[in-house]
Amino acid sequence: MENSTPAKPHVIIVGAGFGGLEAAKLLGHKPIRVTVIDRTNHHVFQPLLYEVATAALSPADIASPIRGVLSKFPNIDVVLAEVRGIDLTAKKLSAGEQDFSYDYLILATGSRHSYFGKDEWEKLAPGLKSLEDAVEIRRRLLLAFEYADRITDPAARQAAMTFAVIGGGPTGVEMAGAIAEISRYTLAKDFRHIDPSLARVILIEGDERVLSSFPEDLSASAMKQLRDLGVELRLGVHAENLTEQGLEVRGEFIPCRVKIWAAGNTASPVGKMLGAPLDRPGRVIVNEDLTIPGHPEVQAIGDLANFSHQTGKPLPGVSPVAMQQGRHAARNVLTMIEGGKPQRFRYRDKGSMATIGRNKAVADLNFIHFSGFPAWLAWLFIHIIFLVGFRNRVAVLLQWAWAYFTFNKGARLITRNFQAELRPPS
Ligand SMILES: Cc1cc2nc3c(=O)[nH]c(=O)nc-3n(C[C@H](O)[C@H](O)[C@H](O)COP(=O)(O)OP(=O)(O)OC[C@H]3O[C@@H](n4cnc5c(N)ncnc54)[C@H](O)[C@@H]3O)c2cc1C
Repeated sequence: MENSTPAKPHVIIVGAGFGGLEAAKLLGHKPIRVTVIDRTNHHVFQPLLYEVATAALSPADIASPIRGVLSKFPNIDVVLAEVRGIDLTAKKLSAGEQDFSYDYLILATGSRHSYFGKDEWEKLAPGLKSLEDAVEIRRRLLLAFEYADRITDPAARQAAMTFAVIGGGPTGVEMAGAIAEISRYTLAKDFRHIDPSLARVILIEGDERVLSSFPEDLSASAMKQLRDLGVELRLGVHAENLTEQGLEVRGEFIPCRVKIWAAGNTASPVGKMLGAPLDRPGRVIVNEDLTIPGHPEVQAIGDLANFSHQTGKPLPGVSPVAMQQGRHAARNVLTMIEGGKPQRFRYRDKGSMATIGRNKAVADLNFIHFSGFPAWLAWLFIHIIFLVGFRNRVAVLLQWAWAYFTFNKGARLITRNFQAELRPPS
C-alpha cells in the first residue's frame, strides 16, 4: 500500500528512543507532516532497565506509550511497525506491510548487544536492552534463589547462587551492584533453607579496571564501592566457554547458573540497509552535519551513528548524545525545508555518572569528580528529571523512597512457566 503524495514536506523518523523522540518533539506543531515509526509501542528509559531486571521497578515505570508522548502534536502520526528496507534513490522505506515515501528521513534505531561472533551465548547470558530482556533477567535471578531453596546438594546450591556479570561498563557495574544488594538486603529474610546474603556476585571485565571510560579515580572508587557490597571483581580477563553450568575465566571453571551479558554493542541492522559506509560495530559513519554521504535528506543519529568529527573518536553511545543529535537533526530538516544547508553538529558533554547501589555512585562532571552519597543523590535527581512522563516520575520517586527506607523491592515477580527450571536434577 502506498501512502498519498504529501502536500507538506514529509519527515519520517525511525525509532522513538532518546534520539527519535527528541527529533519528533522539535518537529511537533511545525507546518510539516511527521511520521514516527517504531517496532514497539513504547519508549524505554534504558538507564533504569537494570532496576526492572533486579525487581526494584516494574516495566511500566520506565516506559511510556509513544502515541501518548506525541499525542499533543496533530502533525505527528505514529506507526507501529518494523522497518525492513530503505530505498534511498526512490526515497521510500518499507515497514510492516506498508511502503512510505519521505522527503526527509531521520534514522534513530539504536543498538543491540554483541556477542563478538558467539551468538549462541545469547541464550546462556542475556543482555539488557529492552523490557523483555529485563523481565527475562529478573525471572532468571529470582528463579535461581527458588531453585537453590529446593535442592540440598551444597555444590549445586552454590552454583545456583552464583551470578556472573560479564562486562564492567556502567551497565555491568549497575547490575552487579544491584544483584548484590537484592541478595544481601531484600531477599535476606525471605527463604527458610538458604541464606541469600551468601550469594556470590562476580563481575568479569577484560580491562584492568571497571568503568574504563571514566577517569581513573572514579574507577578506583567504583571498585571499592563494589567490593564493599561483596562483589568479586575479576579484572583483565575474559569470560570463555559459556555453558548452562557455568563459564571459564583464564582456565578456571566457575559454576554459575545465571550469567548476564554487558560486554559489547553492535548497531541496529537498519544501518546496513543504507549502503553507506559503516564502522566495525555497524554504525553509520555520518558527515559532520549528521547526514549520510551523498544524501543530505537522510540523517543517522544516536547509537546508530558514528560521529567522529569532534574528538577524532566516535562519540559515546549515551542518551545525551542521542538527544542532542535528535534535536540537531530536526533543526537541520527545518533549515533544509527553508532552502538552507544542514549545519555542523557539536556535542556538549556535561559529564557522566554510574550508580552502584544505595548511597553508592560515581559522577564525572568534567570540572569535578565525586563519588558515594553526593554522586548517588545527583544520579537520582538527573534520572528523575529525564524520565519520560509525569506518572513515571512520581511512581519511580515513590518506589525509590519506599525501597530506601524499607530495603524492600516490590517487583519480585516471576512470570511465564517455570516448572522445568525449578526441577532438581534427577
Ligand atoms: C542497560 C542500559 C543502560 C544505560 N544507561 C545509560 C545511562 O545511565 N546514561 C546514558 O546516558 N546512557 C545510558 N545508556 C545508553 C542509552 O540508553 C543509549 O545511548 C540511547 O538509548 C540511544 O538512543 P537512540 O535513540 O540512539 O536509541 P534507542 O533509545 O535504543 O532507541 C531505538 C528505538 O528504535 C526502535 N527500533 C529499532 N529498530 C527498529 C526498526 N527496524 N524499525 C522500527 N523501530 C526500530 C527501537 O524499538 C527503539 O525504540 C544505557 C543503555 C542501556 C542498554
